[in-house]
Amino acid sequence: MERTGLDYANKLHAEDPLAGYKERFYIPERNTLDMDGLTKSIKPIIYMDGNSLGLASKDVEEEMKAEFERWKDLSTRRSGVDKKAAELQSKLVGAKPEEVIVTGSASVNVHALVSTFYKPEGKRTKIIGDELNFSSDIYALASQLRLKGRDPKEDLIIVKSRDGRTISEDDIIAAMSDEVSVCHLPSVYFVSGQLLDIKRLTEAAHEHGIIIGYDCCHSVGVIPHEFHEWGVDYALWCNYKYMNGSTGSIAGLFVHEKHFDVTPGLPTWWGNSPSNRFDFESEWTSTGNAESWHLGSNLGIGFGVSPVYASSKMVVEAGLDRIREKSLKATDYLMYLVDELLTGRPYNYSVGNPREAERRGGHVAVEHEEARRISMALADRGIIPDFRPPKVIRLSPIPLYSSYQEIWEVVQHLKAVIDNKEYLRYEADKKENF
Ligand SMILES: *Cc1c(COP(=O)(O)O)cnc(C)c1O
Repeated sequence: MERTGLDYANKLHAEDPLAGYKERFYIPERNTLDMDGLTKSIKPIIYMDGNSLGLASKDVEEEMKAEFERWKDLSTRRSGVDKKAAELQSKLVGAKPEEVIVTGSASVNVHALVSTFYKPEGKRTKIIGDELNFSSDIYALASQLRLKGRDPKEDLIIVKSRDGRTISEDDIIAAMSDEVSVCHLPSVYFVSGQLLDIKRLTEAAHEHGIIIGYDCCHSVGVIPHEFHEWGVDYALWCNYKYMNGSTGSIAGLFVHEKHFDVTPGLPTWWGNSPSNRFDFESEWTSTGNAESWHLGSNLGIGFGVSPVYASSKMVVEAGLDRIREKSLKATDYLMYLVDELLTGRPYNYSVGNPREAERRGGHVAVEHEEARRISMALADRGIIPDFRPPKVIRLSPIPLYSSYQEIWEVVQHLKAVIDNKEYLRYEADKKENF
């Protein structure tokens, strides 16, 4: 059987143990261009952007309706959904249940955690960040330095990329010294999809007495972690990407149990020990677990957290190992098709993410000089990619709802927009984001 043919995609689909999950999601239909680029018909979109915003599921819908019912009869605070969500999330990151809470947003959690652990003392005054991390993280690191009276120009070490796509672990480790207090990195780079070696970096940081934490927005829900065992000091992640936990869903936060006696940088009444939570005169006291880092009550219970509970339940039920296995198989297949069918003239596509399974996350970074216009053409064909300037088309097959046939079809569309010179229909400099 030709591995580039549709039959092979059908075969992979027939062997896919997660294929049944797709029907639990809502896949919108749109009137979009057919393969010929001329006629249009109403069909379900092919969604390759779940690493940016996951699709809505019936599971989440049911749980949000249930939360509304709990609000109606005021049983919301007794439901325990917040603790159940945190416990499920702890399984996804390899933590003890008491090490994880659902609170805040990813960006605010970076502030909450760095403000907790960055304590400039003597000559240990620096923070390590890197050139390719998400903007929020770098803003937070610079701001946390300023809030403690330090100058980011002096004390923020930004590890540079050698190739514009990836960061070498060796370069990060080379930046570690006894002048560094905190090292803050992503697990997976949001543009190139590079997965860092968290275990190795954590060990290296600890050899230098450095606290190390990770922004795992691009890995939680698609890559298993072992935060507790690896001794990771802290981590945070959002729940609306691979977790499909809904727009505006509350984020996750991990603090290793060895730090349970540390006072949070942003203490709140809800993070206060339950025994004196309503005792407004006394001093803030630790809960003795990660709950100390709660950013107020409204973020930890109710509408933000109930969809996280439902989506975490689905991911745990499907099995993170099976999810990672399918993600690797699907991204391998996509890279294979790009290599076989779309490299060289006239197509000129290439794969920009690391190739090795242990070095890549859940998306493929397809590169092309015309990436912006191609992304626009794809959208009119009902394929939803994610364009990242200047030349990356992120394509993320989501294990719970993307099929191998869809991957095959996406590649046919990538080919057709070049064959038909269809991307020339779009303005090159339009500032539209996908
Ligand atoms: C998506 C993402 C965020 C988003 O932050 P919010 O506070 O949820 O808006 C932060 N960091 C990284 C690495 C991301 O990929």
